[in-house]
Amino acid sequence: MTSELVLRPGDFGLGRVPARLAPAATAKSICGFCSTGCSLKIHLNARGEAINLTADPDYPVNLGMACPKGWEALTPLVAPDRATSPLLRHKATGKLRPVTWERAMAAFVENFQGVQRRHGPHALAFLSTGQIVMEEMALLGALAKFGMNMLHVDSNTRQCMATSHVAYKQSFGFDAPPFTYADFEESDVLVFIGANPCIAHPIMWQRVMMNRRSPAIIVIDPRKTETAMLATQHVALRPKSDLPLLYGLARLLIERGAVKRDYLAAHTTGFAEFEQFVAAFTLERTAAESGVPSADLTRCAESIARGERVSFWWTMGVNQSHEATRTAQAIINLALMTGNIGRPGTGANSITGQCNAMGSRLFGNATSLLGGYDFGDAAHRAHVAGILGIDPARIPAEQSWAYDEIIDGIERGDIRGLWVIATNTAHSWINSGRFAAIRRRLDFLVVQDMYATTETARMADLVLPAAGWGEKDGVFINSERRLGVTRKVARAPGAALSDFAIFQLVAEAWGCGAMFRAWRSPEAAFQILKELSRGQPCDFSGIGDYAHIEERGGIQWPFPEAGGQTTADNERRLFADGKFFTADGRAEFHFDEPRPMPEPPDADYPLILLTGRGSSAQWHTGSRTDKSAILRKLAPTVLHVEINPTDAARFSVVDGARVTVRSRRGTAEAVAFVTTVVQSGQVFMPMHFPDVNKLTFPSYDPHSRQPSYKACAVAVTPHHR
Ligand code: SF4
Repeated sequence: MTSELVLRPGDFGLGRVPARLAPAATAKSICGFCSTGCSLKIHLNARGEAINLTADPDYPVNLGMACPKGWEALTPLVAPDRATSPLLRHKATGKLRPVTWERAMAAFVENFQGVQRRHGPHALAFLSTGQIVMEEMALLGALAKFGMNMLHVDSNTRQCMATSHVAYKQSFGFDAPPFTYADFEESDVLVFIGANPCIAHPIMWQRVMMNRRSPAIIVIDPRKTETAMLATQHVALRPKSDLPLLYGLARLLIERGAVKRDYLAAHTTGFAEFEQFVAAFTLERTAAESGVPSADLTRCAESIARGERVSFWWTMGVNQSHEATRTAQAIINLALMTGNIGRPGTGANSITGQCNAMGSRLFGNATSLLGGYDFGDAAHRAHVAGILGIDPARIPAEQSWAYDEIIDGIERGDIRGLWVIATNTAHSWINSGRFAAIRRRLDFLVVQDMYATTETARMADLVLPAAGWGEKDGVFINSERRLGVTRKVARAPGAALSDFAIFQLVAEAWGCGAMFRAWRSPEAAFQILKELSRGQPCDFSGIGDYAHIEERGGIQWPFPEAGGQTTADNERRLFADGKFFTADGRAEFHFDEPRPMPEPPDADYPLILLTGRGSSAQWHTGSRTDKSAILRKLAPTVLHVEINPTDAARFSVVDGARVTVRSRRGTAEAVAFVTTVVQSGQVFMPMHFPDVNKLTFPSYDPHSRQPSYKACAVAVTPHHR
């Protein structure tokens, strides 16, 4: 019998389309998994219900392509474990039992207001997501901070894009990814750092494959990823040595005269200090610290120096690091000093993770005030309050704690009530065993999710059943700043409601509904967000409504009213004029001395664990992708650990054998996969399995507070020992 996988069109979606339900119409909707932002054509039956989908050939992002997750986007909606009614934990039995929405809201208010009465208003926190639509994020952030008097709120964007947010804000003056996807096709050198688009962003990789300039493709990654295998050069550095390597490349480029000094003088600040700083990163030092042979470093620098159009792309290998912000800025520095910004095929380009992480960065109301404003600035607070028609005193001047600080706050007993929305903290947070251990410190845990079966929902006192992607309307912003509309094409099951409707219910039950009367619907909320964006770098006040976005095939910000944009410029990049968003209009060089990795290997834990995406068929904690039989076929079903043959021999590990992977925080059982994909001294495990984050070491970038998932010390032992 063969195990070969053959996929036919009818295998996808909600099943084969019966003849009597031949498609009556289609709706277009942006995919709700990753930040690529592909458009999907959803085929509807005569009752207007989704029956299947195809990739949209006319959308400038995906050009008729979709990855397996997109093709299977409808399947998680009909999973048997959907949460179909609110569930409240019964005190006597300890079991979750169905209740009405009225009872659920009463329990929500009684318990959370009780926490605030006993422990102060800031004893409540929420942890949200980059997966819901922008209008929902904004309503949640406004409701919690302005209506419910909460201060400490954050989202899983902290795990994904906090570093890019801070790096861009410091370097460019605003969180502004400068690129458009056309740059994948227009570069003659593409440098990927800590990014594996073949697996993590497959449609972006297809755009690279459409590049007709025969580009050099350089992949800087400790592991020989699928992307590294297809590169023209793989720079296999030691884990967490990116910073010295990038500084060493800067020095090599300076030595080769590849610096655009006119550009630097006209448009940047701090290059002279940076030049002085990187002088210490000699070729010998860089080779010694990164483990990359001098000849390979030289070859890499020469490719960059020769390139007319060089683009630098990074994602989680950079963002999830103990010195992530400075690493991202080291990449930005390379682009600035070589003049590779603001032109076709160039840029210091951070690839986003979640479908709406950019929406969350602008409108989550966590780190930045709605629209990218500052909580600490009284004029900003007054401006936002004016647009919202609220008392400026309702807007806190103090910053929220970051995700890890909220977790610390729970452990100390400062946070007593937690509301988790569309994320799975118990699985995805670093050193996840700790969250399970401190859950009992919470007086009340509310989880709002599509499923009552996630690791976090199973711990909840109250589960609020939420509609998922495809069951509601709203806007996502993708990696290239493109706003796209996602549409309701299915009814949420049972009593499940859209997150937007749940937030409206909470506002009324809490007693602050009057503050949010103008937020009547997602599209009404979108009009408020337009006003909040007006005059900001992300200005999209020139967009009319959802139909306008759909007609244009998505709209990139900025798109100001009377901004003169035409339909011909629907793939736009930033900074063509050399003007940045800092006070003086100049981009800034930021840099620091590299620091050692927080938990290096030693005699007891001799291997470095790398984590990352396992396949293009899996998404994060698998809450949705595990629901699809097709996607399960396309991904490993058991947790595996990649180990180099040298280490396998050293630790008596045989390919295919069961092993235990131990760190100082936990253990995971896995199947050994002996392979040279990982270097000796390193092992790799896919992040989608819940045991992996029991191993990871809780350290954080000091600027972005993003967790450093990618490197910790472990030991691997075979079961027969
Ligand atoms: Fe969806 Fe991302 Fe796949 Fe496109 S690449 S179909 S946006 S998951």
